[in-house]
Amino acid sequence: MLDKQTLIDWDRRYLWHPFTQMQDWLAEEPVIIERGEGVYLIDTAGNRYIDGVASMWTNVHGHNRQEINDAIKAQIDKIAHSTLLGYSNVPAIKLAKKLVEITPQGLDKVFYSDNGATSVEIALKIAYQYWQHKGEPERKIFVNLDSAYHGDTVGAMSVGCIEVFHRTFDGLLFETVHVPAPYVYRSPAGNQPEAVRDYCLRELEKTLQEFNRQVAGIIIEPLIQGAGGMITAPEGFLKGVETLARNSNTLLILDEVMTGIGRTGRMWACEHEDVVPDILCTAKGLSGGYLPLAATLTSDEIYNAFLGEYKNLKTFFHGHTFTGNQLGCAAATANLEIFEKEGLLDKIQPTIAHFQRRLMEFYSLDHVGDVRVCGLAAGVELVRDRETKEPYTLEEKVGIEVCKAALKRGVMLRPIVNTIVLMPPLQISVSELDQLLDVVYSSIECVTSGSRLNGG
Ligand code: PLP
Repeated sequence: MLDKQTLIDWDRRYLWHPFTQMQDWLAEEPVIIERGEGVYLIDTAGNRYIDGVASMWTNVHGHNRQEINDAIKAQIDKIAHSTLLGYSNVPAIKLAKKLVEITPQGLDKVFYSDNGATSVEIALKIAYQYWQHKGEPERKIFVNLDSAYHGDTVGAMSVGCIEVFHRTFDGLLFETVHVPAPYVYRSPAGNQPEAVRDYCLRELEKTLQEFNRQVAGIIIEPLIQGAGGMITAPEGFLKGVETLARNSNTLLILDEVMTGIGRTGRMWACEHEDVVPDILCTAKGLSGGYLPLAATLTSDEIYNAFLGEYKNLKTFFHGHTFTGNQLGCAAATANLEIFEKEGLLDKIQPTIAHFQRRLMEFYSLDHVGDVRVCGLAAGVELVRDRETKEPYTLEEKVGIEVCKAALKRGVMLRPIVNTIVLMPPLQISVSELDQLLDVVYSSIECVTSGSRLNGG
């Protein structure tokens, strides 16, 4: 076993961390996780932290869950990986059947990949090629929302719309038409959810009319825009988008990478508004947060458009080496079996109600501007001035400071600029949730009432 200091030295010397300013990283002592137990992450020094963001929004049943461990172990004794290009495998078939059964009716085929971004790339490419097969090759434009995030590969970034992340790569990205997101707290249409919803839908409708038969698809994150700042959509927005997509005969692509697998309290966010997309992307929680696995589901109508003679090149020429990996698929099936065995979606309803109730207490903190919550996902937006909604500046790093304060109190978080994200494993108990919320509350209080950040 390597000692802690050697690990720190090697980390600093050899690793480049994602979404991390490495200059800051090098100046601090890193937390190095060694084990997990339920909702706890345990570092090399034996410190325990509540996993407040479910290890980048992936973990479902807690860490080290016996049934998933066993499924992976059983699978690995048979085979870890063989290709899905030209051949098939047992876990990939079983999971595909299960996914078709548990997604809304009308999603009939499963195309695997490794992560959220690739599931989105696949969705975009399928939509783009579909229209060529349907004799409408002029449908090339994707419509997306402001503040959208769909991953970091070039195609997924192209349909993303977050200044800080995407501006640098402008010249590399293909053009899309983006429309306002229903960000009620900061919308030009005022602060009434219905008014904001109707405004955004009108703008979308205008766009669809303007580009009419050029739109290949509309892509959105249903109910919550995650990395954009946990922006929750007003009721009826998703249904409205579906209606507009149907009226303009274009495809609706739902990116359920973050919202899927129970995060919103239903298996899929689209179920809340009885919406059925043409294409659905899932990843993150799909394998229970264990292994990199993603799936893009489509209707038979889309799938059938790709059928034809080999020489006619209607094939979907896309694939990743580890597409349909056996270990990932076995973990995912075990994950979904636990949902069924434990009636998990019913079981978490009281936890969700408790989470939502307790989060409202955060409004008693002076620098909490907006609390947004959907299922077991929440964002607490901190502002310098509540009256004017003036944000904290990047220099103040308020989100980062709150997370550092929480870490000292035994909770691991990851902010989105000034928004504190809360996304615990779905199986968190009410007492663990209380512990998490108490720490986040006191950390926000401590950081924002300090003289450096409160404008005093
Ligand atoms: N789509 C959504 C909605 C996401 O939240 C994310 C990641 O946060 C992605 C796509 C990208 O997923 P990945 O990081 O697995 O590529």
